[in-house]
Amino acid sequence: MADKISIPSKVTVNKLAKAIDVDVTSVVGELMKAGIMASVSDSIDFETASIIASDLGVEIEKDDDIKLDTSKPTSNSRQAKVLKDGEGEPRAPVVAVMGHVDHGKTTLLDTLRNTDVVGGEAGGITQHISAYQVSHNGRDITFLDTPGHEAFSSLRSHGARLTDVAIIVVAADDGIKPQTKEAIGFARDAGVAIVVAINKIDKPEANPNQVKQQLADVNLIPEEWGGDTVTVDISAQKKQNIDQLLDMVLLVADIEDLRAVSGGLMEGTVIESRMITGKGSVATILVQHGELSVSNFLVSEGAYCKVKSIDNFNGDSIDKAHPSEPVAVAGWKTPPRAGALVYEVESEKEAKSEVIANAHAVDKIADSDQMEVMTAAMKASRDTKLVPLILKADTDGSLTSLIDSVKLLEVEGIKPEVISSSVGAVTESDVTLAESSKASIIGFNSKVSGRVKQTALRASVEIKLYDLIYELLEDLRQKLSSMLAPEVVEEEVSTLEIMGVFKTTQKEVICGGKVKKGKIVPELIVRIENPEDEGEDIEIGKVAAIQKEQQSIKEAKEGDICGLSIATKQKVKLKEGDVIKLIKRTTKSRSL
Ligand code: GDP
Repeated sequence: MADKISIPSKVTVNKLAKAIDVDVTSVVGELMKAGIMASVSDSIDFETASIIASDLGVEIEKDDDIKLDTSKPTSNSRQAKVLKDGEGEPRAPVVAVMGHVDHGKTTLLDTLRNTDVVGGEAGGITQHISAYQVSHNGRDITFLDTPGHEAFSSLRSHGARLTDVAIIVVAADDGIKPQTKEAIGFARDAGVAIVVAINKIDKPEANPNQVKQQLADVNLIPEEWGGDTVTVDISAQKKQNIDQLLDMVLLVADIEDLRAVSGGLMEGTVIESRMITGKGSVATILVQHGELSVSNFLVSEGAYCKVKSIDNFNGDSIDKAHPSEPVAVAGWKTPPRAGALVYEVESEKEAKSEVIANAHAVDKIADSDQMEVMTAAMKASRDTKLVPLILKADTDGSLTSLIDSVKLLEVEGIKPEVISSSVGAVTESDVTLAESSKASIIGFNSKVSGRVKQTALRASVEIKLYDLIYELLEDLRQKLSSMLAPEVVEEEVSTLEIMGVFKTTQKEVICGGKVKKGKIVPELIVRIENPEDEGEDIEIGKVAAIQKEQQSIKEAKEGDICGLSIATKQKVKLKEGDVIKLIKRTTKSRSL
């Protein structure tokens, strides 16, 4: 047997796996067999560690001075593939279009999509996916039709880079604005090449030179001024200089020597995911390495998929996809997260155990008996309560900002969980999903037809529509807070008609009367109709004691004539003929 491996008296699952050089999935699996539900970041004691290690055929010994090496990534913190020099084959560049609002990003993306889309007619498809490829000079270029920020910010954690080139759109009649600077910042941080498209040059007030000056001010010196920032004057609307722009994109991309491994297990990034009627969860994936085929098994954090179908960006069903190709993949058990790494594994078994190892995202698992039990156990042990939501918005851009802002909301451990999000009107399938997952639907600048409203009403599904984002967020925050407070349930149990009032002080009213309905018991709340407002009752106090024929009793029944002592907080005036209502109030904690 090999030498014993030294382990400190407390060690995280992750570090143990690395130290004994066993896949973290196997360690989590062994722990589970031993009845221990531990996630990769949980600590276990040496006793447990040594039992698990020995089950895995490794002997360990305790050594508190040992520093474990954590530099190696484990399968749960799966990192994007890094190619060695010269490894792989050339691939198409992936381009994101960014810039200030109204400077023409959408127009440019539409112009590109409609002029040069690879494989012909776009838009003839029912399900538009948010990425496409165009062909220019016989070469493909992939465009991501997503707001650029998403494409940059969520990817750093696993070291991936979704985009190779950022086209920064600046309107020539408006110049560099805050979002332009932000976009430049994102691109620089991510080490992405920049091409500046100076747009709207068809406008009489266009001033491209001023834009160039502003670029120089933020250290993007235009090439024609001796710098190395590529700029192209265009009109997205009039389709001017679009070819030059694509030439420049390819030129800049060529400097990067973009490569990918074109065969073997697929690796890529989730661009977005949504529910599609008849297809279930569908994820748009950018293939980055390897080959994606129907029937492959894919894992992305807590979600996994047996690939049922692959559609290209034109909506055509295809059997295989290759690097830089954006595709819509159906077959997900739960929707994967936009921005997450997705990778192929050899078997369903492996897919499931990878998902288990990715325990931080385990609440997304929804398949197979064993996994269901585990999910429940793990969920119960966690403090955060998730409130399921389905989000709808008018455009991809507003949907992304909506998702981002909603995700940031958290009220004392109660958080929204976006289970599905898509662009467009609220549909029947949104309602069906909401019903089965007990979610509410929130729409931003989104519509809902009368028919869908009816379906929602029948299914008791809440649909709320907003056109102001802050109102939406405020309402949602209130909803989360209201879930915190216990729910108060009130029930009117009896009424009594007052026949005489015997004593009225600040703290007490003693009166007599006849029970008209129900039973009166101590502790019931006493209310009386407000004579000034017929709909509203005034609360006057609580039943402190009941008397019948000079005797204290526990309960007065319908028809009884009895005396009541009502504990009050202020002097209340009751008079003969008033009918008081007796209310039972119970509180129960809200179910989330
Ligand atoms: P985004 O917010 O950056 O996506 O901007 P849009 O693409 O929605 O464009 C904002 C406005 O500018 C729209 O009214 C467009 O029609 C207009 N626009 C976009 N590109 C051009 C252009 O090249 N020339 C002119 N004159 N208008 C443009």
